[in-house]
Amino acid sequence: MPAKVVEVHKGVYEIFLPLPMRPTIINVYLVDCHGAWTLVDTGMNSPESVATLEDAFGQVGIKVEDLTAIIGTHHHIDHFGASGELRRRSHATTHLHALEAERANRMVSFGSMAGHADRPESRAFFTSHGFPIDQFAPTGMRPAWMGTSMYSPVTTPDRFIGDGDQIRIGDREFEVIWTPGHSPGHNVIYLRREKVMIVGDHLLPKITPHVGIYPDSTGMNPLGDFINSQLKVQKYDVELVLPAHGGTYQDHRHRANQIIEHHKYREEEMLDLTRKKPQTAFEVAQQIFGSEERPMFHVMAATFETLAHLEYAYLEGRARKMDRDHRVLYQGL
Ligand SMILES: [Zn+2]
Repeated sequence: MPAKVVEVHKGVYEIFLPLPMRPTIINVYLVDCHGAWTLVDTGMNSPESVATLEDAFGQVGIKVEDLTAIIGTHHHIDHFGASGELRRRSHATTHLHALEAERANRMVSFGSMAGHADRPESRAFFTSHGFPIDQFAPTGMRPAWMGTSMYSPVTTPDRFIGDGDQIRIGDREFEVIWTPGHSPGHNVIYLRREKVMIVGDHLLPKITPHVGIYPDSTGMNPLGDFINSQLKVQKYDVELVLPAHGGTYQDHRHRANQIIEHHKYREEEMLDLTRKKPQTAFEVAQQIFGSEERPMFHVMAATFETLAHLEYAYLEGRARKMDRDHRVLYQGL
């Protein structure tokens, strides 16, 4: 199938790559740096996605081998899954935040979710938040692509990138803005001169990305980080927002405010439930996201997204937290 490529700004190409899950498309961005080429995010390493990328590059007049640099917004499969394959072919300099490289490594070495469920300390974590882990087979926690070649990330990037870094490639300057939340080392890539912001999953136009607390992120406040990262990007002057899913748009400040409001509303809804009776994250999630039969993976994501909300409310003094029979209960104040 011929790839769809749109020149969204002079020398900046949006390429639509297929995904076998929802959302069904990821947008990656190829930037002409005049004598050099940079790709921000890579798509998955599926034969369909790589073939589509090759076709798109052909339409622009280059080959994968011509890539000079790859920048990953974060380690997730749809964003960084093909980076290993693309670097092998092009020797492009690969850039990723250290926290993301750590996670890419972990995911490759033990298959993330299934690994979580198998470790005794992780089982204790699930149980403490009311999640009935014994009712689910550990394989149910594993997305279908886990452990396959579809996830073939660069696990040792050539350059670690972090907040405020300027990456100079050809005649372009890519500014790194650290936006933790959806993932701890998520970065937004800003082209200051062009007033273009490549936002990864941070500022999607129609949906909000998953933000959750997992066994290896205990003690963290990912939703608080996410909200702060929404406030942070509002300080930049932007005329064109390039998201990883959904259409390009203009007003990033407006969208950041909408996302903040959405989470406030969600939190209020959750705390309301707990005011009558303190509850675990799992119990709250069942009421908010529905308790009908769903794949285990979704039940887990809903529970840990709810937990991120409850923990954020607790840390900000809007909820109390108590331990009862080895269960962690939250109650809105
Ligand atoms: Zn993601």
